[in-house]
Amino acid sequence: MPAKPKPKLAVWKFASCDGCQLSLLDCEDELLDVAGAMDIAYFPEATRTVLEGPYDLSLVEGSITTPHDAERIHQIRRDSRFLVTIGACATAGGIQALRNFKDVREFTRIVYACPEYIETLRRSTAVAEHVRVDFELRGCPINKRQLLEVISAYLNGRKPLVPTYSVCQECKRQGVVCVMVAHGTPCLGPVTQAGCGALCPSYNRGCYACFGPKETPNVSSLSRWWTERLDVSDLNVVRSLRTFNAAATEFEKESIRHEH
Ligand code: SF4
Ligand code: SF4
Repeated sequence: MPAKPKPKLAVWKFASCDGCQLSLLDCEDELLDVAGAMDIAYFPEATRTVLEGPYDLSLVEGSITTPHDAERIHQIRRDSRFLVTIGACATAGGIQALRNFKDVREFTRIVYACPEYIETLRRSTAVAEHVRVDFELRGCPINKRQLLEVISAYLNGRKPLVPTYSVCQECKRQGVVCVMVAHGTPCLGPVTQAGCGALCPSYNRGCYACFGPKETPNVSSLSRWWTERLDVSDLNVVRSLRTFNAAATEFEKESIRHEH
C-alpha cells in the first residue's frame, strides 16, 4: 500500500523582522521530528525548495502594510487549510503599527529620497483584519515551545493548549518577587498574556507586554494604579503601551485615552 502523503507546512512572511520564523529554526532538537511529520513545502527562510499548494498548515509572520500584501494574504488563505498567525506583527500589527497614530506619508517623506515610489498603507494591521485566522500565537518573538505545541496540536487534530491568563500567574508559579509591589517598578504583567515565563520580572524588570493583552485585561485599572500610586506620567503610560502590540485594541484604546 502506498505511504500516506505527509501534511504540507508553509511559512509565509509579511512586514516583520523574521524573528518568529527563526523561532522555528531555533527548535534544534525537534526540527527533524517536525520535518519527519510534515513536508516543509514553502519556507524561503530555510530552503529554496518550493512544493505546490494547497498547504495543510500555514504559519504567517508579519503585518499587512502594502496594497500588494493585502491581496497576497487572500491568496494564501485560499491555499491554506489551517492558517496560524505567529508573533505580535501578525496578530496585532507589530511595532510598525506606531504609524497608525501618525500620518505615514510624513514618515516616507523624511526617510526616502523619492517617497512617490513607496506604496504603503496608512495603517499596519493584523492578518485577522483581512482574512479568517484559525489560531493566533502571540509574542515578540513567539515562544518556540508554544509553536511546537501548535504544530503538534494540528497533527493530532486537537486545540492548542496555549494559556490566555496573565504573566502574573507565571511569576507566582516561579516564586518571583513582584517588582511592582516590592520596588514600585511599573509592570505590564497583570494585563499581558503569559508565554515568556515571566522573563523580565525574574530579572527585576517590569514586563514590556511582548505577548499582548491577556484575555479580558483591565488596562485602565492598571494605568490608574501606575499614575496614582507609582507617579508614572501620562506620556510614559502611552510609551509603555505603544511597543510591540501598540495596535492591540485594549492597549490602543488606553494609550489614546492617556494621550488626550
Ligand atoms: S513579532 Fe517581533 S520577533 Fe516576530 S517578526 Fe514581529 S518584530 Fe520580529
Ligand atoms: S512582577 Fe509584574 S508580572 Fe510579576 S506578579 Fe508583579 S505585576 Fe505581575
